[in-house]
Amino acid sequence: MNTIELIDRLEQDKSLQKEEWITLVESASEENREYAAHKARALADRYYGKEIYVRGLIEFTNYCKNDCYYCGIRCSNKKANRYRLSEEDILACCEEGDRLGFRTFVLQGGEDPYYTDDKIVDIVREIKRRYPEHAVTLSIGERERESYERFFAAGADRYLLRHETANDTHYRKLHPESMSLSHRKQCLRDLKEIGYQTGCGFMVGSPGQTAADLAEDFLFIHELHPEMIGIGPFIPHQDTPFANETQGTLEQTLYLLSLLRIMQPDVLLPATTALATIHPRGRELGILAGANVLMPNLSPVAVRAKYSLYDGKVCTGDEAAECRNCLERRVESVGYHTVVARGDNISILR
Ligand code: SAH
Repeated sequence: MNTIELIDRLEQDKSLQKEEWITLVESASEENREYAAHKARALADRYYGKEIYVRGLIEFTNYCKNDCYYCGIRCSNKKANRYRLSEEDILACCEEGDRLGFRTFVLQGGEDPYYTDDKIVDIVREIKRRYPEHAVTLSIGERERESYERFFAAGADRYLLRHETANDTHYRKLHPESMSLSHRKQCLRDLKEIGYQTGCGFMVGSPGQTAADLAEDFLFIHELHPEMIGIGPFIPHQDTPFANETQGTLEQTLYLLSLLRIMQPDVLLPATTALATIHPRGRELGILAGANVLMPNLSPVAVRAKYSLYDGKVCTGDEAAECRNCLERRVESVGYHTVVARGDNISILR
């Protein structure tokens, strides 16, 4: 079976065997990439029309107890300039976000024990008290199931936790002994069971990643069936053990975005900041390859550059209002428009 036929069968069956995934991942010729992108965009249009959902990202702490080799805010990076936002700061971001039309707030941070379960519950509750119609997304790493239950009861709607890689050996190349893939996968299953709209995902081109690893990512995602999938290129950070590794490519990221869209046509798929960082029109190209979500930064400008996961991160200087306008123009330049709706998965709305 040639690659075009495999892409067609993926569209039909929504699944492939591991060997077929490997073949697909390895045959990323320009022709195949264009074929996949065309199909992916048509599917996204069928499910979501010309609408692109916008989520306001609030990076509220860059303290982290973990030591992931790829990440600029890992605990061993003594050069990182650490910060935490107070509840008041976070609420001010939400107020600005609401004014700009955002209906989803994403609270992301390192794994920072300063924010105890009680503190997170208070923050979520207060946001939901002020904005009962808005969605709150948490992205604060691995916690106990009981903690996830408490956040959900407090009103959190969604949770983003990239699995990073579905292969154990590859996971070990990216993380220290203290972390485990099985725990991360368990967290994702717990989150889904509790009732969160759940997002997983991985970096494209992370050190040591093979086509077989990516095949396992697709199989894992197919089995989990998340509401959201976040992928973006790996970009080295100068103060990490991966400083001299090569960054993930634009072409492969776009191709994998398209394959994800074809596998799960109604999924919420962001064109990430990392993608925008490796190409000046990364977001637009992401949309054309099948993405339908953007997550602009709502964090105070004073801390933006400090949330440095990788080098060269874009959009660290502009006020949220400017970002909003810039995004709108970019989205319109490729024939789409942003929407302020919560943008829950349409399969859930049905
Ligand atoms: N502590 C939270 C949030 C992590 S930051 C958690 O564990 O989920 C969000 C994502 O940024 C990570 O999941 C990772 O996939 C991505 N990331 C980290 N370092 C990166 C790098 N050097 N290049 C590209 N993406 C990176």
